[in-house]
Amino acid sequence: MNILLVGAGLSGAIIGRTLAEAGHNITIIDGRDHIGGNCHTERDAETNVMVHVYGPHIFHTDDEEVWNYVNSFTTFMPYKNRVKTTSQGQVFSLPINLHTINQYYNKTLRPAEARDFIENEIADKSITDPQTFEEQAMRFVGPDLYKAFFEGYTIKQWGCSPTELPASILKRLPVRFNYDDNYFFHKFQGMPENGYTPMIEAILDHENITVHLETWFDPDTAGEYDHVFYSGPLDGYFGYKLGRLGYRTLDFEKFTDKGDYQGCAVMNYGDREVPYTRITEHKHFSPWEEHEGTVCYKEFSRACEPEDIPYYPIRQVKEKALLSDYVKLAEETGGVTFVGRLGTYRYLDMDVTIREAMDTAAAFLESAAKGEKM
Ligand code: UDP
Repeated sequence: MNILLVGAGLSGAIIGRTLAEAGHNITIIDGRDHIGGNCHTERDAETNVMVHVYGPHIFHTDDEEVWNYVNSFTTFMPYKNRVKTTSQGQVFSLPINLHTINQYYNKTLRPAEARDFIENEIADKSITDPQTFEEQAMRFVGPDLYKAFFEGYTIKQWGCSPTELPASILKRLPVRFNYDDNYFFHKFQGMPENGYTPMIEAILDHENITVHLETWFDPDTAGEYDHVFYSGPLDGYFGYKLGRLGYRTLDFEKFTDKGDYQGCAVMNYGDREVPYTRITEHKHFSPWEEHEGTVCYKEFSRACEPEDIPYYPIRQVKEKALLSDYVKLAEETGGVTFVGRLGTYRYLDMDVTIREAMDTAAAFLESAAKGEKM
């Protein structure tokens, strides 16, 4: 079969590779001048530091098959994400752990004491079934830590009150009553030795795959292929005819320096008055490399305009209603499968994106073998 994949990010590359290995002819197009989508990495010309061009991407998963898959295309180096946050004139450890709690409250509590202290003296136990981001925070860490670490940051990141956001966003972060400051709790974590782009290049390196960059998709040409997998914005496929699904976009203010600028890869800024959400210092994402210079990104979040790159799907009540209308349109569109973060309008981590791409490709091959049309 002749198959078109729109988007050369993780979804497109993995689906393309699986179908190419099964003998299909794969064409992949991408409007940008590089593969990898928002995972794209490249070396900075001045310092040679590996830069996560669209912001920090740390690979973490519990899915052994996904871990083995990515490791079969590149070498992953050990990397633990340890995040700090500057708030109210101090630097604290994130995610909230025993160090954060003891430092914030000027105490020397042991694990069980800290759990008891937060649960019985700080947390708002009147909230029994937290629905919003704010309720989730008030229920599990209480008002002080919420205000110091989450409220200001979240207003900056999402451009709205945490009372308007779902609890699921905060559930991404653990609260720990020990000194484990690993940002993620997954079994496997690492960073590709030469960045994500060479990994995706290796996935795309197959005789049945042709990649065309700086090539925009025209939905009218979909009929020329036996099937299309589309990983661009869902509303964009339909010419935004029902309206635009809301996204947050990011602006990065890049600066270079010598030596070590901030001593860690990611420094968040919890105070509302600081206009940026975080500063990432990219050389710390490759701690096995040595560089004299350093490259930092100050990260600002704002509403995504039509000409901007979409990053985070907003998924509030308004967007969810519009989303369900677009999903209906997508279901009525034969011969096209919508995949990935933009194609399904979800806040997806890399490992989930890969898992879904593997499953989508397997389901397609199974249907094709049975002669079913998708
Ligand atoms: N968050 C926060 N303060 C922080 C870090 C995170 O309030 O210092 C909130 C914020 O709303 C963010 C969410 O927790 O969107 C999830 O954080 P995560 O680190 O997973 O965000 P990402 O790295 O995907 O932007």
